[in-house]
Amino acid sequence: MTSLDKPQLVIASHNQGKIKEFHEVLGERWQIRPQADLGVSEVAETGLTFIENALIKARHACTATGCAALADDSGLVVPVLGGDPGLRSARYSGEGDLRNNALLLENMTQYSGDQRAGFYIAVVVFLRHADDPTPIIAEGRWYGRIAEAPRGEGGFGYDPLFIPEGSRRHAAELTAEEKNRVSHRAKAVHSLIKQLQI
Ligand code: IMP
Repeated sequence: MTSLDKPQLVIASHNQGKIKEFHEVLGERWQIRPQADLGVSEVAETGLTFIENALIKARHACTATGCAALADDSGLVVPVLGGDPGLRSARYSGEGDLRNNALLLENMTQYSGDQRAGFYIAVVVFLRHADDPTPIIAEGRWYGRIAEAPRGEGGFGYDPLFIPEGSRRHAAELTAEEKNRVSHRAKAVHSLIKQLQI
């Protein structure tokens, strides 16, 4: 099959890393088209859940292009903080990753032991068309706890503070391959692929 014979799948993300990851796992069956290449604008993420925001982004990309679309939404959830940073993970402090990490540490100072539990979550949504009443929704979680100080140079976001369950190393100390084997996003993408193959 040449790439032009394959159906187009718009990726509703501007993140090159995610687009590459989706291409690697779905490129055999789909012609992967980053939404920026098709002139799709950003859409306001007005949902109150990760699922709603992923659906909003996927539906917006379908409407703009007339193609099937895939969108994801992810973040760090800390139950003792009522689910924060949650949907606001990227803009928790309003001043980028370094300050986000500092703010999380500050908000966790009074908590110890099991209270420092947290998890990353990723939701991936596949919509065949804008009015698709049966979207495919896949979720992945990566459980762990929030460290008392940052460690490691790898990853991004809250990885310097995140200690995965069963690990002595912080997520930012894992190689990309190690992280990609166990992360929330990897789990969500694999679950989605399984469902697409049914
Ligand atoms: P988005 O899904 O690209 O909007 O990501 C939301 C935010 O969640 C990111 O900016 C990070 O703050 C956080 N986040 C999501 N996944 C990860 C991860 O794998 N490591 C660290 N932070 C993450």
